Amino acid sequence: MGGPVVRRWLFSAIDALFPFCCRRCGHLFLRGGSQRPATDGAVADPDLSQALADQFCPVCRQRWTAVSSPFCSRCGLVFKSREGDNHLCGRCLERPGAFTRARALGIYDETLRSAIHALKFRGIVALAVPLGDLLLDVFRRHWEPGEIDLVAPVPLHRRRFRQRGFNQAYLLIRHWNLPTGGTIVRDLLVRRRATPPQTGMDRRQRRRNIKNAFGVRQPGQAAGKRVLLVDDVLTTGATADACARTLLQAGAERVDLLTLARAL
Ligand SMILES: [Zn+2]
Ligand SMILES: [Zn+2]
Repeated sequence: MGGPVVRRWLFSAIDALFPFCCRRCGHLFLRGGSQRPATDGAVADPDLSQALADQFCPVCRQRWTAVSSPFCSRCGLVFKSREGDNHLCGRCLERPGAFTRARALGIYDETLRSAIHALKFRGIVALAVPLGDLLLDVFRRHWEPGEIDLVAPVPLHRRRFRQRGFNQAYLLIRHWNLPTGGTIVRDLLVRRRATPPQTGMDRRQRRRNIKNAFGVRQPGQAAGKRVLLVDDVLTTGATADACARTLLQAGAERVDLLTLARAL
C-alpha cells in the first residue's frame, strides 16, 4: 500500500469522524465526496448539488435553480413566464450589446450565490474546480465543438488581484481540458482602470463606470478569433459588454459569454 492510498484512507476516516460545517447555514454534516458520475463522454447534466458535496450540507445543496427555457436567446435572461420557447428579451431587441450570446449555469441566488461568495470573498479556492467542471458542462451543452477559438476570463484590476490573490474567473477555467482546439488565455484582456464596485448602480451608471476600463494585452491576439469570455456572475452585463466591445475593436470575430450565475 503506497503513501497516497494511506493518506486518502486516513482523510476519509477523519471526514467520517469529524462532521464538516456547511458554508451556507453552518449546520454540521458528513461530507459526501464530490466525485462526478461517469457519463461515457456524453455531456453531463450540470449538477450543483453533487459538485458541492464537500462544502455544503445536503439541504443547502438542493437550494439552487438551474437556468432553463424559456430564456432570452441572446443574453440568457430567464423569463418570469415559464411557458413558450426561447426568444429575444425586450432589452436585446432594443439595444443589443456587443456580445453575441450569454449562457449561465443557474440563477444568482441561494446556494449558487453562497458558493460564489465563498470562492471569491472567503478564498475557498477548493470550490473552483467543482464549479469550473459544471461551467464546462454548460459550455459543452450550448456551444458546438470547435465553435470557440479562445477562452478568456474577465480580468481584475491588478490592485484587486493583489488584494484577493486570484482571479476567480480564471480559477474556474484553468484546469479545463479542451479537446476541440480552443485555447485558454489568461491575460487576453487587462483591466486598465480600477473601477468602483458596481453594487447599487443602475444600468446607465454601470455602463459609464466601466467605459474604457479594459484593453487587450497583445494587439493582434484576438484578431479574427471567436472568443468565449468567462466570469462568475452576469448582472446587468455592463462589464461583459465593455470587455466584448474591447475585443471586437481589437478585431475579434465574435464574443460570447459564459458565467456560473445569472442575476434575475
Ligand atoms: Zn447548509
Ligand atoms: Zn436578452
